[in-house]
Amino acid sequence: MPLVVRPSPIHAVGVYTTTPIRKGARVVEYAGPRITPQEADRLYDGAGRTYLYGLEDGKTVIDGEGLGAYLNHSCDPNCEADEIQGRVWLFALRDIAAGEELVWDYNLYDDEAPAPCHCGSRKCRGTMYSREWMAEMRRREARKKKLEVGQDRESKTGGTTSSPGDSDGIGRSA
Ligand SMILES: [Zn+2]
Repeated sequence: MPLVVRPSPIHAVGVYTTTPIRKGARVVEYAGPRITPQEADRLYDGAGRTYLYGLEDGKTVIDGEGLGAYLNHSCDPNCEADEIQGRVWLFALRDIAAGEELVWDYNLYDDEAPAPCHCGSRKCRGTMYSREWMAEMRRREARKKKLEVGQDRESKTGGTTSSPGDSDGIGRSA
């Protein structure tokens, strides 16, 4: 499929198609070396932007490289990632016209660093995290607040708001 990398209004550069793509077509593989979540942590802890994709087995992470890893996130995507027998492909969610930027919904999870979204779509949720993960973070925040209130009552010192967090650095989910 004739794809090109060009500057993108969403983020730095993006991947564009020079020919029309049919709905359901297999567009590009999300390729890269296979590493473990532990290796991913070691390599990318604290890194601003990573290209990691966690496979369904929970034990394998693709350290994305090449065209497939260059697609930007959008909350109103025209592609979706799908894992087939341990390989991940981006498929067209709808007919895509020549010249369109190819985007998919990263649905990030398992991290707490801010990941604001600049996709500019009307459906933008303001973050590249998945709705499920945002809900989970809100639950954790609520639990933490409850805990802090409890501690204040006991020690009367209070005031601690920072926590080490439990990010494991895995960036993307299917
Ligand atoms: Zn968005």
